[in-house]
Amino acid sequence: MKVDSLVALSEKLKIKYSLNEPMAHHTSFKIGGAADIALFPESQQQLTEILKTAKENGIPCTVLGKGCNVLVSDGGIEGAVIITLLMQQIILVNETVILAEAGATLASVCRFARDNSLTGLEFAYGIPATVGGALYMNAGAYGGDMSMVVKSATSLNKNLEQICRKNEEMDLGYRKSVYEENGEIVTSVVFNLEVGDKEKISTDMEAIMAKRKKSQPLEYPSAGSTFKRPEGYFAAALIDECGLKGFGVGGAQVSEKHAGFVINNGGATCNDVLTLIENIKSVVKEKRGVTLNTEVIHIGR
Ligand SMILES: Cc1cc2nc3c(=O)[nH]c(=O)nc-3n(C[C@H](O)[C@H](O)[C@H](O)COP(=O)(O)OP(=O)(O)OC[C@H]3O[C@@H](n4cnc5c(N)ncnc54)[C@H](O)[C@@H]3O)c2cc1C
Repeated sequence: MKVDSLVALSEKLKIKYSLNEPMAHHTSFKIGGAADIALFPESQQQLTEILKTAKENGIPCTVLGKGCNVLVSDGGIEGAVIITLLMQQIILVNETVILAEAGATLASVCRFARDNSLTGLEFAYGIPATVGGALYMNAGAYGGDMSMVVKSATSLNKNLEQICRKNEEMDLGYRKSVYEENGEIVTSVVFNLEVGDKEKISTDMEAIMAKRKKSQPLEYPSAGSTFKRPEGYFAAALIDECGLKGFGVGGAQVSEKHAGFVINNGGATCNDVLTLIENIKSVVKEKRGVTLNTEVIHIGR
């Protein structure tokens, strides 16, 4: 697909970009063919200009944060991939309120909260995400999720108008938000926290990180939990009970350490992962009668 208009815009506004950029370099699975162009805006203004030019020229756009919940096709992604990671400002708005740009990582917001003696975000320490991707997924762990700490967020709608939504207008549920449905692009998120004890916040954050390291196969590329939690069950336990730990297709494998994770054991393709996922789903359905739905989002050509 022709992306000359975006190249010209990037040269003019000094936006970082790369042509035929392998998505394997931008996803935690380390899987995925090339996007026609990858762009790295540093501000909401640059992001808006990219979206405007893409719209005028009929170039499809995909927005990514850290790429920790996506599985990109081996054929890559048509058009532009906009990676928000350079939109990373974090500011203290008042005693208990933090504003973070969409590309700031959750880890850096957690550390910023801790440094300002603010409690509430400890659960999120260790979830590999940008703030935008975390809100889109309503990411959560250890009893917390984004719905418990987000006050409001700004986004751009399809007409490139700026929208400000309060928490109750985001339809936040288990790994879902309004942004999945309306295609708005989150540009910044406001967090409402409470004053706490810095030492305790720090200790709790480290304890949560240690739990993760102990139970999750962080030494392998993956996209975290492959499946959503089916009501009344745990996906990992079901997969384990079906004897699927260690089961593999090509370079994709069910983690021996945590059956809820499909890992890239070396050279896995998107097709390997998709085939493995289908195998897991059909075995679990056959042996336990439970339908598994994927949490990982498959995108691309
Ligand atoms: C080792 C590991 C552990 C994990 N543990 C957890 C966990 O404990 N809990 C949990 O919930 N998840 C977990 N995950 C999954 C992942 O961290 C979350 O889903 C996270 O929210 C993804 O954020 P991201 O910035 O990487 O989003 P991406 O993967 O880049 O994108 C995910 C989706 O969000 C959309 N998106 C991204 N940015 C924006 C934006 N600014 N505006 C609108 N849409 C946007 C993308 O288009 C895509 O559809 C884990 C993943 C890994 C690899």
